[in-house]
Amino acid sequence: MHKVETHSDEGSSVGSEAGLEAGNAELRPQDLATLARSRLFKGVDADRLRECVRPKGEVTLRTGQMLLELGQRNAVIYLLMAGRLAVHLDEDARIPVAHVEPGECVGEISIIDEEAASASVVALEPSRLLVTDAAHLWRLMAQEPAIALNLMHILAERIRRNNISVLESFKAQAHLRNLSIIDALTGLHNRRWLSDVFLRQIDRCARGHYPVCLAMLDIDHFKAVNDTFGHQGGDRVLVQIGRVLQRQFRPTDLIARYGGDEFAVLLPETDAQEAVAALERLRLALQRTQTSVAVRTTVKITVSVGIAQWQPEWSLDDLIQHADEALYRAKEGGRNCVHLHGDAAPVSA
Ligand code: GH3
Ligand code: MG
Repeated sequence: MHKVETHSDEGSSVGSEAGLEAGNAELRPQDLATLARSRLFKGVDADRLRECVRPKGEVTLRTGQMLLELGQRNAVIYLLMAGRLAVHLDEDARIPVAHVEPGECVGEISIIDEEAASASVVALEPSRLLVTDAAHLWRLMAQEPAIALNLMHILAERIRRNNISVLESFKAQAHLRNLSIIDALTGLHNRRWLSDVFLRQIDRCARGHYPVCLAMLDIDHFKAVNDTFGHQGGDRVLVQIGRVLQRQFRPTDLIARYGGDEFAVLLPETDAQEAVAALERLRLALQRTQTSVAVRTTVKITVSVGIAQWQPEWSLDDLIQHADEALYRAKEGGRNCVHLHGDAAPVSA
């Protein structure tokens, strides 16, 4: 991309490459017609336009040539007579945010706030622009209030468009954030989310001297489901178990897919006995449920559960490790049962 040296800091000197001739040029008939149709001069009589619009000169651009660079000082306004330009807000001018068509203007924001250009502008095709300096435009606006009003409309539309872009960008960010903390298959939160949110809940319970328990659940013989009904059958089971978990627990309990066929449930303000009772209810409910693995095909799915109640000296990793150990004991104890950390045998044995 080539940059065009069109003007100095004062906006008066003009680079030869751009082909800008200084002076009080009169408008050509076809330029007058384009200006008369333009938004900036809407409502201004053509004769008045011919009389009062005195461009400093004109700029011609090749495809890819840069008219304005982000951060560059600018004291002129450009009126596009022919061609097409792209406006970029990013430094390397890769993502166009708007296009400029014949009759539209460029540079009006920096002449109003006298700040550096807030965007880069690049020619998408050979283009020709008239150049008017700021002082001339201000005089014009004093004589023809319609121009000032038009400029306000143009700026208002730009602000509105930018607001929409900002909103869309926020939505895109929120979507990406969601993608990174939500398990795509079950719609439950994932492990990344868990480590942050569980920690905060544990801290809250610790400060309030409430008990808090963690339950780790793992589907029994899940490999056999995959082997018999295929990965899709297994996926259906995972989705349904996720739904049962969401139905079964209180809104204040925090549920996550820990990975594979393992789920984690944090139960704030719940002691070991209450947690065991809640998980026993879930285990029995699952045991009674027919889970669909294919059209008109259901299976009985059971889970093994390990529970640990958080102790003041424990980190989150310690809590997970102790609940996982209890889960291992539940598997060892014959599966389809709940094992509490510290107990000698599974609860439901
Ligand atoms: P156990 O009773 O000891 O838990 O036996 P298991 O067969 O359930 O063994 P394990 O928990 O170790 O196996 C989990 C299996 O889950 C292994 C893996 O192929 C399968 N799996 C992991 N993620 C997914 C998934 O997203 N979809 C499906 N369909 N299967 C998965
Ligand atoms: Mg399993």
